[in-house]
Amino acid sequence: MDMPVLPEAAGKPALRNERMNAAKVECNACPVLCQISDGRTGACDRYANRDGVLVRVDPVVLLRRAVASESPALVPFARSGAQEAPSEGADPDWNGDLLHADEVFVTGVGSSTTYPDYKPAPFIVASKAQGVDMVTVVTEGIFSYCSFKVKIDTDRFLGAEQANVRYRGEVVGHVTTAEYGSQMLSLGGVHHLTGGSKKEGRMTAELMQLLGNKKPVECVIDGGASMVIQAGKAPIVNGVEEQRMRVGCGSAAVGIFARQFAAVADEVVVVDDHITGVLTEHQAGRCLDMPRSGIQMRGRKSTPGRYFQVANPGNGWGGTDIADPLSIIERWEEGVAKPGLRLLMTSTTGEHAQWYVLDDALQPVEQPMPDAVRAIVERIGENCEPSLCTVLFLGGAGGSLRAGVSENPVLLTRAIKRALVNVTCGGAPAYVWPGGGITVMADVMRMPDNSFGTVPTPAIVAPIEFSMRLDDYAALGGHVDHVFPLEQALARGAWQDDGAPLARQWVQIDPANPWPIGQPPMLG
Ligand code: SF4
Repeated sequence: MDMPVLPEAAGKPALRNERMNAAKVECNACPVLCQISDGRTGACDRYANRDGVLVRVDPVVLLRRAVASESPALVPFARSGAQEAPSEGADPDWNGDLLHADEVFVTGVGSSTTYPDYKPAPFIVASKAQGVDMVTVVTEGIFSYCSFKVKIDTDRFLGAEQANVRYRGEVVGHVTTAEYGSQMLSLGGVHHLTGGSKKEGRMTAELMQLLGNKKPVECVIDGGASMVIQAGKAPIVNGVEEQRMRVGCGSAAVGIFARQFAAVADEVVVVDDHITGVLTEHQAGRCLDMPRSGIQMRGRKSTPGRYFQVANPGNGWGGTDIADPLSIIERWEEGVAKPGLRLLMTSTTGEHAQWYVLDDALQPVEQPMPDAVRAIVERIGENCEPSLCTVLFLGGAGGSLRAGVSENPVLLTRAIKRALVNVTCGGAPAYVWPGGGITVMADVMRMPDNSFGTVPTPAIVAPIEFSMRLDDYAALGGHVDHVFPLEQALARGAWQDDGAPLARQWVQIDPANPWPIGQPPMLG
């Protein structure tokens, strides 16, 4: 691979330390200021010394639309992380014609940066979209304030809220508020990166890079489960791959399937760690005129037919710790419960289900499940979605990063808040949080593979791009002298003016992503 030569930082020769060996070059792309020997790479593996010249090792990633004329050599967007993207996609048959500018998007992946940003962003690319002059400011941000929010689709108990999550023995995050059908982790963040021991910071950065790059990581929750989590894959909890995400809580499941249940059973209990549903007491059963069964449940009654805390959280039925569902029944009310009463007990995923009939002593006796009942249990399973891990990157584009975009960075923030700027991460749509600053969130599965790196400060390297109209860019104090048309930007490379070849990797944009330039409301 040809590596781009970076002889200049802000138009000046690479800095040399007085005491530095003449055979070394100093990288000033981040505050670590690596002094790199010939043939070696710097601490982040992104820059190297090639024959006494500082070069960028990995290519800049360019996105293309999926067009009819697409070159077969184009690297397809890899979503699953199951395949390694080639280190360098072949250059499609493209001659730099501006007509293709709306088909090519320069991402921040491999684009270079400086930290803090003491010069304009490495690529400030002009293009046209729907006849409007546009600019995309492309950079590879270095984020100290960043984390990953991980959604794990399971109702199994992974760990108590606020429990520490460890990676290779170090605390790298915690369990946060559970969401509907999913357990949530908050991993990484500035306090683990920089606020603890050096080892904690190193492990945090390593975990974050792996997670962002769609690789599997093994974590252990204090007092909870050990897990393997990977973006876009099913979680593996205590060595068992999770299959199903529950259809809803126990109350919801009762409501969804009430009519079907009522046709085959006299009582149905859907066991759930959150809300256990009891059909005949539930409003759904009442609406079907089902007579009371006389069942008396353990736990705390919330509203009729809806019970909290029937058991402890665990890896048994419905995310509770029970193996015997009858253990959550307190008793049967005499005079109401009748011998022969047909009772279905099921979990919210249908993975656990048993069928009982009350005997003369009002004791539930397990019986073979009738086919009609089995069909409903299978339908509950059918309505579950596959259990997945979802990994969202959350990062704050700080003052120095913004300086690479504008001489007056607050104007960039304001322009984003006014929806004049489309913010993307590796071409993937980024949600910008309301309120102050530029805090963005993106799904790593929509970003190119291997979008994330680290520097040993420690911090995370991640792509970010800002697309806007050229006149808006000028109005927010943009570095308009550094705007280059796409073909010149590619020929020139990051900060270069010597025509050195730019290592590039072509990737077809994820079909689920909108094209990053020219989307409403920018041009609306
Ligand atoms: S860690 Fe990487 S970016 Fe920072 S100085 Fe070293 S080689 Fe350059």
